[in-house]
Amino acid sequence: MAEDKIRILVVEDEEDILALLHFNLMKVGYQVDCAAHGEEALAAVAANRPDLILLDLMLPGIDGMEICRRLRNDKDTSEIPIIMLTAKGEEEDVVSGLEMGADDYVSKPFSIKVLLARVQTVLRRKSTAGEKLDTEELTYGELYIHSGRSQVLVAGKTVDLTFTEFRVLEALASRPGWVFTRYQIVNAVRGEDYAVTDRAVDVQIAGLRKKLGSCGSYIETVRGIGYRFREDL
Ligand code: CA
Repeated sequence: MAEDKIRILVVEDEEDILALLHFNLMKVGYQVDCAAHGEEALAAVAANRPDLILLDLMLPGIDGMEICRRLRNDKDTSEIPIIMLTAKGEEEDVVSGLEMGADDYVSKPFSIKVLLARVQTVLRRKSTAGEKLDTEELTYGELYIHSGRSQVLVAGKTVDLTFTEFRVLEALASRPGWVFTRYQIVNAVRGEDYAVTDRAVDVQIAGLRKKLGSCGSYIETVRGIGYRFREDL
């Protein structure tokens, strides 16, 4: 029997939220598995490999962070996209989760529409992973970036960026919609004999926005987490 539906595992201990997600994901055509705690989640992943996991962080027993760590450290599961479901005030956990390899997060309470959009975005990213960074030229609205030439134009006019500013912009713009923690930005820029601290990232972003002028708003601050290049351009 051919089973070509995309399979999503929802891990959530709050029954109402679990039922809501189950219903709505089924309604748009996904195959949905549910788990109410960590052990159940790991068993479900082993039994039927999901195409994507919606993972609540605060769970009884093995918590979401630990599940994320275990999945990422196992080569059979390391590629499964994970979207964290987080509560208000869990920004530090979001940062840790993203750095551990979670793909995205959605804060509770969330709208189903927003959640479904995030699911689609993450699934699309995974299907095009690897193809994306080959391109040397990026164009978004009035912004043009040429990686090989380290060139940036806004509305056709050259913008002089420092080397680090360019690398920060390039990292963010190569993955629109993707939230980067400060640490991830530091990592993207590092390796060029340049010490960049968390605080310095904020300074770089501020300088970058100023120089980009009308395109400065393309870089969004994600409060408590880091930065993101807009994907709706
Ligand atoms: Ca919970």
